Amino acid sequence: MNAEICLKKLQYVGVLAFATVDSQGNPQIRNISAIHYEPDALYFFTARGKDFCRELLEDGRVQILAYTRYKEMIRLSAKALPAPRDEQDHWIEKIFQEQPYLANVYPGNTREIGIVFEIRDGAIEYFNLGVRPIFRESYTIGQGNATLKGYQITEDCIGCGTCIEHCPQGCIEAGQPYRIQQEHCLHRGSCFEQCPVSAVKRLGGRE
Ligand code: SF4
Ligand code: SF4
Repeated sequence: MNAEICLKKLQYVGVLAFATVDSQGNPQIRNISAIHYEPDALYFFTARGKDFCRELLEDGRVQILAYTRYKEMIRLSAKALPAPRDEQDHWIEKIFQEQPYLANVYPGNTREIGIVFEIRDGAIEYFNLGVRPIFRESYTIGQGNATLKGYQITEDCIGCGTCIEHCPQGCIEAGQPYRIQQEHCLHRGSCFEQCPVSAVKRLGGRE
């Protein structure tokens, strides 16, 4: 798995959920399918009059979420920027070619109300619940930064083994200290709650 394959999977899903933040700090989410994919970037079309467009221009933070039929969750966190002015026509043409329904929504010159945003820098989380043990990994595109999430066992571990008994994925290895196999961790926190000496720390980020 890598970032390029994740973008391909987003493309196969087709209709993605895009979450933004409005001027009151409220989450806003909608489905978007007017998207063109490059191996390491994506471009999407919206209309300048939409709240979605205003939220992107004012704040720009966006999270894109897809769930595949194979129980894979793919989440892209990024900042969306308007594509360069001299590239707008190029990307609009490409998106309209790939998504013929758009010509029905915006016939003829009415597509001129549209604007294309680009995402070139971002962090991707891949989470596969369809395999055992479950599998997760993080990737970046461009200059994106991945945030560490989940749990980590610290040097305070006394090796009692309680966490192993409560781990639903069997992804804790004995040792000094014990160690979580991060790629198989559910991030649900049983080890954190059960450890008698609070040796498990929560890493930054949200889920
Ligand atoms: S429950 Fe806490 S102290 Fe015990 S092995 Fe796990 S991390 Fe170490
Ligand atoms: S968070 Fe859950 S899955 Fe991950 S190591 Fe702790 S108990 Fe196991």
